[in-house]
Amino acid sequence: MITPKCDITKIITKLSGTQETEDEELAFLIDGNYDTSILFSAADKIRRRFYGTGVYLRGLIEFTNYCRNNCLYCGIRRDNRNAVRYRLTKEEIMQCCREGYELGYRTFVLQGGEDPYFTDDRICSIVSEIHKHYPDCAVTLSVGEKTRESYRRFFEAGAERYLLRHETADPKHYALLHPDEMSCENRKRCLYDLKEIGYQVGTGFMVGSPFQTTESIISDIRFMQRLQPDMIGIGPFITHNDTPFSKYPSGSVSLTLRLIAISRLLFPYALIPATTALGTLDPSGREKGLKAGANVVMPNLSPVAVRKKYELYENKICTGEESAQCRSCLERRINSSGYQVVNSRGDVCTITKGN
Ligand code: SAM
Repeated sequence: MITPKCDITKIITKLSGTQETEDEELAFLIDGNYDTSILFSAADKIRRRFYGTGVYLRGLIEFTNYCRNNCLYCGIRRDNRNAVRYRLTKEEIMQCCREGYELGYRTFVLQGGEDPYFTDDRICSIVSEIHKHYPDCAVTLSVGEKTRESYRRFFEAGAERYLLRHETADPKHYALLHPDEMSCENRKRCLYDLKEIGYQVGTGFMVGSPFQTTESIISDIRFMQRLQPDMIGIGPFITHNDTPFSKYPSGSVSLTLRLIAISRLLFPYALIPATTALGTLDPSGREKGLKAGANVVMPNLSPVAVRKKYELYENKICTGEESAQCRSCLERRINSSGYQVVNSRGDVCTITKGN
């Protein structure tokens, strides 16, 4: 029922101001029974105030699809015997960076499954090699849950940013998405360790993962309000046939867009990607994401030969294009949405809410 409290304009004013938003108001925004164009244009206005029309590019290098984990939703989970496994060599990773640098990328994101082959020593050696050759670039790691000591070593080797989605902040929901040996508590511990070490930290969650409810999404938002992440990755869950969740439907594009917009209003300084998953479910998903408040895109820099193998979900886009094609296609999409690519590292905006 729409109570007088649930007035879209009033809630948006609260969200982008300093007043606390109540759960009931967040639930109303999440559920979307109102004119959502008001939400999207408010988010776009805030994004323009903090970041103008700039869109930051992150060159994504998916360097291994081996994973010791068994997340029930993920196509590269340990028990998926149909996944064709690969690892890039250090030289191959450096080649991706070389191509990326020539194309104008100033951030490299090294993402992979939790692959025991890539020991801390190996990761540090790759990070410091990239740092040495491209001192004007930021190195972002996204290699899962590690000890505080490992995170400290990666940081000292030159990694300045880390992406680790919390996936869901509700421990009961977390337990339905992951095997017993994984815990919500450890994932959150990792995020706080990363923050304390000094990383720019990215977190986030999938939209429409099995058993997700409006209440669990509210707990995601509350968790992010406590963590105050620098980056927020919100993309739809997409079904993968070779997982225990093969019978569950993919998440909704429109709910993902509303959550991007809500995040922009609550975290005006944040770097928020228009994800590849959004572009996979809707051919103009990334453009819609930008218009809803996103300001980052992450083109693929991995060698074309391995791209299809990094199959977290089915029908992933951009798996057949060379890096240069990926870059020019995205640039066209960004321009056609009314934004421009910024060729810089794209660090988090230091103007924080309330300042
Ligand atoms: N191992 C690292 C980690 O745990 O953060 C990075 C790799 S992990 C595969 C990257 C992200 O992919 C996860 O945080 C998850 O949100 C997303 N992902 C996995 N399976 C997915 C699916 N079926 N649909 C959409 N996103 C998915």
